[in-house]
Amino acid sequence: MNKHSELYDIVIIGGGINGAGIAADAAGRGLKVALCDKGDLGGETSSASTKLIHGGLRYLETYEFRLVRKALKESELLLALAPHLIQPISINIPHTAYHRPWLLIRLGLFLYNHLARRPGYRNAKAVRFHQDSPLADEFSHGFNFWDGQVDDARLVILNAVQAARDSADILVRNECVGIKPADTFWEVTLEDRLHGEELTLKTRTIVNATGPWVSQLIEKTVNKKPRNEVRLVKGSHIIIPRIQPEDQAFLLQNEDGRIVFVIPYQQNYSLIGTTEEEFAGDPSSAEISIRETDYLIDVVNGYFHTPIKKEDVVYSYSGVRPLVGEEEQSATRASRDYRLEFENTPLPLLSIYGGKVTTYRILAEQAVDMLGKYIAGIEDSKTSRVRLPGGDIESREQQVEVLIGRHPWLEPGIIRRWVAAYGSLCSRVLQGSASVDDLGMDFGHGLFQREVDYLVESEWAITAEDILWRRTKLGLVFSESQKRVLDKYLGNP
Ligand SMILES: Cc1cc2nc3c(=O)[nH]c(=O)nc-3n(C[C@H](O)[C@H](O)[C@H](O)COP(=O)(O)OP(=O)(O)OC[C@H]3O[C@@H](n4cnc5c(N)ncnc54)[C@H](O)[C@@H]3O)c2cc1C
Repeated sequence: MNKHSELYDIVIIGGGINGAGIAADAAGRGLKVALCDKGDLGGETSSASTKLIHGGLRYLETYEFRLVRKALKESELLLALAPHLIQPISINIPHTAYHRPWLLIRLGLFLYNHLARRPGYRNAKAVRFHQDSPLADEFSHGFNFWDGQVDDARLVILNAVQAARDSADILVRNECVGIKPADTFWEVTLEDRLHGEELTLKTRTIVNATGPWVSQLIEKTVNKKPRNEVRLVKGSHIIIPRIQPEDQAFLLQNEDGRIVFVIPYQQNYSLIGTTEEEFAGDPSSAEISIRETDYLIDVVNGYFHTPIKKEDVVYSYSGVRPLVGEEEQSATRASRDYRLEFENTPLPLLSIYGGKVTTYRILAEQAVDMLGKYIAGIEDSKTSRVRLPGGDIESREQQVEVLIGRHPWLEPGIIRRWVAAYGSLCSRVLQGSASVDDLGMDFGHGLFQREVDYLVESEWAITAEDILWRRTKLGLVFSESQKRVLDKYLGNP
C-alpha cells in the first residue's frame, strides 16, 4: 500500500505560515494531515515580510481596533511559544511637524499600551533623541514603542516540524494540479516538481492556504468562480550595511501617509521596507523596481544624517499579499485582517484570504475549528500551550551562555546564530561532537556539514537556496562559488 493512500482528515495546499500553522494545529489535535507546497516551505510571501510580530500601530488609523487587539495578544503569546525565533525590539518614531499630529500619535500609542496586556514588551512613551542617534539633528524628539522581530521563514518551518512530530506528512515541491470530489471524499492530485511523478491523496476536507494564489487555485482546480476577488499588492524591502544601533529600529512617516521601517537585521545589516504597489502576474516572479528602491532610499535620506545610496543595497526581496476589500480603497488602507471562506459544495473546502504572520496561530485554530464540524471526535486546539520546536528555553541569552560553557571549542558567533534558529534543538545539531572536526566540512561562514545534514534530514531542505535563505540567512554572505559547492554536496546540478 502506498504511504499516502489512506484517507486524510485534512489536506492543506500551501506551506506558507498559514498552511504550516494549520497543519501544526490540526496534527496536534490528532487529525491525519498532509501539507503540500509547490516549492519550499515559506518560499513565497511568508519569507518576504517585514519580519515583525506586531499589533500594527498603523491599523489604528483605519479603526481596526479588533485586529490590533488580536494581533497584540498573539504577539505576547508567540513570544512565550518561540523565545528563540522572536525577540522584542525597540522602535522609535521621529516626530515631524508635517506628518501626523503629536496628540494623534500619543493617542494611538496609549491604545497600543492598553488594548491588550503585553508584559513581554515595554510600554510606549515619548522620547528625546540624543547626539549619538543616526537621525538628522532636526529630529530631536519622538516616541518609542516595542514589538517583536521574527525570522518569518523559520517560523513556517518550525510549524511544519511541529506538525510532522504529530505525524503530519509534509510534501514539499508538490504542486496541487487537480481537486475533484469522489463519493464522500476529495481526490487531490499533486505533481512532484522534482521527479515529475503524480500522487493522488484522498481527504475528507481541504484547506486552500495558497496565499496570493488563493483564487487561482479555485478557478483552475475546482473550476469555480471564487467568492472573493483578491487584489495582489507587492511590497519590497532592501538590505544595506547597518546604519543604526544594534537594538534600535525606526518607523519613518512619509508624505504619502505610508510608513517605512528601518530595522537592525542579522549582525551587520539594516532591513528597510516596505513599499506598496498593485501587482499583476505570477507572484513568484515579483521583484523590486527601480522606483521602489528610490522610494525607500529617499524616505531614509529624509531622516538619517548619513545618506544611503543604491550602491549600498546588498540584497532586496519582494512579496505579494492578497488583499480582499473594496476596489476603491488604497492598498495602504485596505484591511490586513484575514477572511476564512468555507464551502461545502459538494465537500468541505476552506479558503484562507489575507492575514498576517502575527495572527497565523489564531487563524489556524479558527480554521481547524471550522473543519472540525465535519470530522468526528476532534479535540481542542493545543497550540496556545505548546512551545514551538526548540522553544523550550528560558531565553536566547541564557541558552547561548549554557552552550558556550559546554562547547568552548565552538565559535560564540555560531552558537548565537544556532540558538536563534534552533533553540534547544541545538543539541540535535551538536549531538556526539566534541570538536570542530566532528562538524565535518565547512561550506563557509560557519555553515558546517553537520548543520546541512540536519536541515536535510529534519527540515526538508533540498537546495542551497532553501538553506541559505529560508533556514538560515547566510545567503547574505555566501559567494556564488560557495553556493555552488553547497548545491553540489546536496546533489543538485
Ligand atoms: C511586504 C510584506 C510585508 C509584510 N510584513 C509583515 C509583518 O511584518 N508582520 C506580519 O505579521 N505580517 C506581514 N506581512 C503579511 C504576511 O507576510 C502574510 O500575511 C503571510 O506571509 C501570508 O502567508 P500565507 O501562508 O497565506 O501565504 P504564502 O506565504 O504566500 O504561502 C502560500 C504558499 O502556497 C504555495 N502554493 C501556491 N499554489 C500552490 C499549489 N497549486 N500547490 C501547492 N502549493 C501552492 C506557495 O508556494 C506558497 O508557499 C507582510 C506581507 C508583505 C507582502
